[in-house]
Amino acid sequence: MKLARRLQAIKPSATLALNARAKALAASGKDVVVLAAGEPDFDTPEFVKQAAIDALRSGFTKYTATAGMPELREAVCRKLEKDNGLKYAPDQVVVTAGGKQSLYNCFQALLDEGDEVIIFAPYWVSYPDMVHLAGGTPVIVPTREEDGYAPDPAAIKKALTPRTRAIVLNSPANPTGAVYSRATLEGIADAVRGHDCILVTDDMYEKLLYTQEPFLNIGNVAPDLVPRLLVSNGLSKSYAMTGWRLGYAAGPKALISGMQLVQDQSTSNASSITQKAALAALNGPTDTITAMVNEYRERRDLFVAGLNAIPGIRCRLPEGAFYAMADVRGLMGKSYKGKPLTDSLQMSEALLNDFLVAAVPGDPFGAPGYIRMSFVTSREVLQKGLTRLRDFVAALG
Ligand code: PLP
Repeated sequence: MKLARRLQAIKPSATLALNARAKALAASGKDVVVLAAGEPDFDTPEFVKQAAIDALRSGFTKYTATAGMPELREAVCRKLEKDNGLKYAPDQVVVTAGGKQSLYNCFQALLDEGDEVIIFAPYWVSYPDMVHLAGGTPVIVPTREEDGYAPDPAAIKKALTPRTRAIVLNSPANPTGAVYSRATLEGIADAVRGHDCILVTDDMYEKLLYTQEPFLNIGNVAPDLVPRLLVSNGLSKSYAMTGWRLGYAAGPKALISGMQLVQDQSTSNASSITQKAALAALNGPTDTITAMVNEYRERRDLFVAGLNAIPGIRCRLPEGAFYAMADVRGLMGKSYKGKPLTDSLQMSEALLNDFLVAAVPGDPFGAPGYIRMSFVTSREVLQKGLTRLRDFVAALG
């Protein structure tokens, strides 16, 4: 069947695809170590679930305003002011079905055919495809592991053109776990200052920080850029609510109105029940987040140390999020089952098929030669994963 031309540039999400395969193997009785997931293994906090139950019981099951119920938009404003020092009015906020929809709406509202969006590699798999879906052109600017994945201001300046409409910042980052320092954010701000483009900050992993320094949004170091900031965030990772689908965005009123229009004519409001749960989450205690972060920090230390103990694998300690990005270039050229190992796609296939380890190749993130493994699983499973990785490396000739 003939499908729209714009779909030709779109790839299915590599992480979702690998997860689906790993889940299918597990369902068939195989003992799969799943390190591909992008979601917490913790359960949604009980008080959040209770708010949803109460919403259902009281019949709060109808449409809400497209941009979200007023109390929730107000709660988002309070959160952004308290946690991030960013002041927004409720009509500068739109509540969406996940952070993914916030970003999708943003690009749909912002881009004309051929408009450019600067994305730093390694990047979250969905950014380039979302830009393509909106008719835009992703402009990929590489960053280097040696620089802690901090973008080079000179490279940003070089990438900016009259068609640049937006630049995407994601710190803490998926897949690298990198966190931008104040100096890095100042460098980015200096590079884009004077160029009329929107700064899209994807703050989804804001709460998952293992450093002493507090989270910084570029708006904190460059207040003059706040008028062209689009902050995207959500509850998926911080409150272990991936299945609930709740995100939000705050930004210039005109852009938020455009995003609301996109949502008006596509999905309408995020689920009313989820919105009540989100209201409870944002107004509630944060001890569940602290407990989660403490546990993830220990898992990170254990897992990354284990990876670095495997010859040929090298892994930088991520400062945030919950992914380990391991450099496996040291294994390339060795032979596996009589054939040379040439890339991380092939390695990921071998790991899943022969060692029952689901780890995502770096290629779809713009990071060939790396594999991404999440440490949002029990320490026991992480240890089992490390043992199997060691077995894989031992099997190389
Ligand atoms: N941004 C980044 C960097 C992510 O990794 C994810 C999810 O994996 C999202 C946004 C989207 O999250 P949500 O589940 O709220 O749509």
